[in-house]
Amino acid sequence: MRTTPAEHVDVLIVGAGLSGIGAGCHLHRRCPDRTYAILEARDSIGGTWDLFRYPGVRSDSDMHTLGYSFRPWRHPKAIADGAAILDYVRETADQYGVDQRIRLNHRVLSADWCSAEMRWTVTAERTDTQDTVKLSAGFLLVCSGYYRYDGGYAPDFPGSDRFAGPIVHPQHWPEDLDYAGKRVVVIGSGATAVTLVPSMASAAAHVTMLQRSPSYVITLPEEDAVANALRRVLPPMAAYQTTRWKNVVLMTLSYQLSRRWPRLAKAIIRKGVALQLPDGFDVDTHFKPSYNPWDQRLCICPDGDLFRALRRGEASIVTDQVQTFTEQGILLRSGAELEADVIITATGLNLLALGGIEIAVDGQQLDLPSRLTYKGLMLSGVPNAAISIGYTNASWTLKCDLTCEYVCRLLNHMREHGYRQAVAVHEGKSVVSKPLIDLASGYVQRSVDKFPRQGPKKPWRLRQNYPLDVMALRLGELEDGVMRFSREASARDAAPAGAAVPAAAAAAG
Ligand SMILES: Cc1cc2nc3c(=O)[nH]c(=O)nc-3n(C[C@H](O)[C@H](O)[C@H](O)COP(=O)(O)OP(=O)(O)OC[C@H]3O[C@@H](n4cnc5c(N)ncnc54)[C@H](O)[C@@H]3O)c2cc1C
Repeated sequence: MRTTPAEHVDVLIVGAGLSGIGAGCHLHRRCPDRTYAILEARDSIGGTWDLFRYPGVRSDSDMHTLGYSFRPWRHPKAIADGAAILDYVRETADQYGVDQRIRLNHRVLSADWCSAEMRWTVTAERTDTQDTVKLSAGFLLVCSGYYRYDGGYAPDFPGSDRFAGPIVHPQHWPEDLDYAGKRVVVIGSGATAVTLVPSMASAAAHVTMLQRSPSYVITLPEEDAVANALRRVLPPMAAYQTTRWKNVVLMTLSYQLSRRWPRLAKAIIRKGVALQLPDGFDVDTHFKPSYNPWDQRLCICPDGDLFRALRRGEASIVTDQVQTFTEQGILLRSGAELEADVIITATGLNLLALGGIEIAVDGQQLDLPSRLTYKGLMLSGVPNAAISIGYTNASWTLKCDLTCEYVCRLLNHMREHGYRQAVAVHEGKSVVSKPLIDLASGYVQRSVDKFPRQGPKKPWRLRQNYPLDVMALRLGELEDGVMRFSREASARDAAPAGAAVPAAAAAAG
């Protein structure tokens, strides 16, 4: 028999990472009379920026756009170290009293919407005591990030049990890993490998980046001279907003250029890389990907640190494939051998939709891939719930801020009109839906079919475009005919599992 939880909050936020903390601040600022709680599975806040501890861990976008819209980033470095980002998140939580609302060690397992009661029942497991905790909530805001915390992606390399040294995944970096004076092989070519190689190069005997295929790498200045100059002459918020918009415009233009004129973008990137490499370096083998820029995320190299390590001879790149690990290192498909004392498998993340929460509407389990995202933040047929998912072609927080602004507007609108339920209803014919995350990267392709999907047209299409999202989410009509509001309990619009997007549509690529 269904029991009503003893505790009720107006809004329940899942996750106390960059976006969950931001969500708490937005509620505090825009909906101050609403009660809320944040359930966090781990024993600390900060999410990504607390979990990852590998050498050199840093952002790969600028902090003027990865920072919150409401709290200036004042550090001179625009591409910032993980520790500085974690401090910023913690200080923000403290400044807005959000830290008082966080319950650590609470992993949310399930959330059930009951149309008769117009509320969610959320079940969490206490990761410290294994007790079960239940809360009810009027609105659910899922800020759980996009990947598994319990394990990164590590292919099963043959012979790995034979290798005599440590094999480390960057997601689980041992505090005491000693690589000084040792030969290190970093397997991977993504943002993590590009960060790790120069960071380890000065202490290690040598670092080899072993990549199966190259990525696009571009150099950006670690410090933003314009931002630092503006901060000296303008009030902090004015300086921050000016830099933020400058960077949004530059990012949007460079993304559009890459998508519309990929050959030109490739030529520009190649020239930038070639200029920084030592004479005679084989640019095409190691830095010429087979795909177009932004089919996968570009790798950022602050102040050209990777290229400096290559020029100094402290690091090198091998483009080849692992045949097998051996006692002394790695035997490659080409027949060459790489000797190693330490191997780092920077092979990526395992994606996870909605923090693995089992979601049900009126007792029926939700099949996420059968749902379309509404404005990239709600799911068709799922009332009073939003997900905070950032951009893949720009800083994550730009979108998460807009998502929270929209949710706060929605909550205030509902209160003003006495509505208790808001649900995006997808009506009519099948649509040819697309994956939610539109990147060709291996880590995306491995799991994207477990995520909700996007439709071909607004409001179901995910627009990876901040200026357009400002128009839609900050300024757009809430009562757009797709979002249905109701005051009385009724199950009419809350679609049971599988009913929101016809099966044919979900299957269509
Ligand atoms: C190394 C690294 C560098 C990155 N650099 C950038 C960058 O420069 N720019 C950029 O835009 N993006 C970057 N990203 C993406 C990055 O994850 C986001 O920018 C941002 O930190 C995500 O914040 P989040 O709060 O949404 O998710 P997360 O940081 O993943 O936090 C999610 C939180 O939710 C908790 N949680 C998850 N599931 C549950 C559950 N079921 N119950 C309770 N709690 C749960 C987790 O424990 C975690 O604390 C990077 C990612 C990595 C891994």
